[in-house]
Amino acid sequence: MSVVENVLQKVKERNPGEVEFHQAVEEVLQSLEPVLEQHPEFVETGLVDRLVEPERQIMFRVPWVDDEGKVQVNRGFRVQFNSAIGPYKGGLRFHPSVYLGIIKFLGFEQIFKNSLTGLPIGGGKGGSDFNPKGKSDGEIMRFCQSFMSELYRHIGQDVDVPAGDIGVGAREIGFLFGQYKRLRNAYEAGILTGKGLKYGGSLVRKEATGYGLIYFTKEMLEANNKNLKDKTVVISGAGNVAIYACEKAQEFGAKVVAMCDSKGYIYDKDGIKLDTVKQIKEVERKRIKEYVNHHPEAEYHEGQKGIWSLKCDIALPCATQNDIHLEHAKQLVENGCMAVGEGANMPCTNDALEFFLEKGLYVAPAKAANAGGVATSALEMSQNSMRLSWTFEEVDQKLQDIMKNIFNASNNASKKYGMEGNYVAGANIAGFLKVAEAMMAQGVI
Ligand code: NDP
Repeated sequence: MSVVENVLQKVKERNPGEVEFHQAVEEVLQSLEPVLEQHPEFVETGLVDRLVEPERQIMFRVPWVDDEGKVQVNRGFRVQFNSAIGPYKGGLRFHPSVYLGIIKFLGFEQIFKNSLTGLPIGGGKGGSDFNPKGKSDGEIMRFCQSFMSELYRHIGQDVDVPAGDIGVGAREIGFLFGQYKRLRNAYEAGILTGKGLKYGGSLVRKEATGYGLIYFTKEMLEANNKNLKDKTVVISGAGNVAIYACEKAQEFGAKVVAMCDSKGYIYDKDGIKLDTVKQIKEVERKRIKEYVNHHPEAEYHEGQKGIWSLKCDIALPCATQNDIHLEHAKQLVENGCMAVGEGANMPCTNDALEFFLEKGLYVAPAKAANAGGVATSALEMSQNSMRLSWTFEEVDQKLQDIMKNIFNASNNASKKYGMEGNYVAGANIAGFLKVAEAMMAQGVI
C-alpha cells in the first residue's frame, strides 16, 4: 500500500461517515504523490498524518428563542485545522446540511487555499446546521448572539478569525461582531472579516471571491492564448460568489446566460441582467424564479441540475459542493465547454474533475480560484491592524496581483512536478509545500 493509500484508509477509519472530508483529503493527497516521493522527510516525520488531523475541533449547543417564543436548539462547529503559517482563518456556514464532515472538508481545503494567497493565515472553518431561510431578522440576531456567546472564547485576532460563507453575509457578521464586542468589552476590529464598511470592513471584500475567480480564470485562459471576450458562460448559484463572478465576467465581455438557486435556474439567452438578480437576492431575499416576472423573455426551469445541460464555453459552479457530477461533466464536454472555474468549494466530484482534465479542459481549481475572498479578508485584517482604509482601487489592484501570483504558483508547480497544465494538482502542491515546510521547522506539533 502506498503512503497516500495508507493515510487515506486511516482517515476513513478515524472519521467514519464524513464522506465530504474523505473526498477532499483524497483529492489533495493523490496530487501530492510525486512530492512525497521527492521528500521522504514529510513521510518519516508523520507530517501527512498530522496534516489530516485537525489541531482542534469544537462542537457546541446553540439554543435560541424563535418569534413564537419556542426554544430551538442547533449545533455549532469550529474546526481549527492548521496554524503552521498563521492564525486559523476561514468562514462560517449556516445551512441545514452542515455537520462535522462538511466543516472538516472546508477547513482542510482552507489550509492550502490560505497558503496559496501568500499571506500569513492558517486554515479553519465553522458553522451551524441552522437554516436562515425564512427566519426574521430578530430570529437571525438571536441565533447569532447565542452562537457567538460560545464561539467568542475560542477565537481572537491572533488566534482564529472567522468570516462569512453560505448563509452568512453582512447581516450575520454584523450581529456576530456586535455580540463579540459586548462580551469582550473591547473593539477588536480584526476578530471577524466581511464586516460592514462603517465598522472596519474593507472595500472589495464583498466582491472579492467572485472577482478573484474571474481574474484567475482570465489568467488561465490567457496563458493558453484564449480570453473571456464573447464567451458564453453558465454560473450556478445566485449568492455572493455567483453575483460578483457574473459582474466581472460581464465586464470582461463574456455573456452570462444562466444562474440558479437551490430550487431552479434561469436562462436568458440575451445575457443575464445582473441588477435584477441583485435586487431579488441581495435586497428582497427571494427565489431566482422572480427574474422572469421582470424579464418575460427569459426562461425559468425547476430543478437546479439542468443548468449543466446548457451549451456554454465556460462553466462556473459557484453554489455548493458536489454540484457537478460525472454525468454533468460529460454533458458540458459534449456541448463544447472548454473551461471550468470553481467558485464554490469542491463543486466538482473527483471523477468529474478527472474527466475534465482527461478531456483537456482548462480547470481553475477552487482552492486557487476562489482564494480571492480570504485573501481580501487578510487585507481587511491588515487595515484593521493599521487602523486605516485603502481605496477600492488599491484593494482591487492587490487582489488582482494576488490572483496572478496564485495562478503562477499553481502553473509553476504543475510544470515542476511533470503535470503541466494541471492547475488542480499544481495548486495542491504549491499550497502544501509552504505549510509542510513551516510544519517541519516547528517540530512535531
Ligand atoms: P451564498 O449563501 O451567498 O449563496 C449560495 C448560493 O448557492 C445560493 O444561490 C444558494 O441557493 C445556492 N445553493 C446553496 N446550496 C445549494 C444546493 N444544495 N443546491 C443548489 N444551490 C445551492 O454563499 P456564497 O456565495 O458565499 O458561497 C457559495 C460557495 O462559494 C460555497 O461553496 C462557499 O463555500 C464558497 N466560497 C465562498 C466565499 C465567500 O467569500 N463568500 C469564499 C470562498 C468560497 P439558495 O439560496 O436557494 O440556497
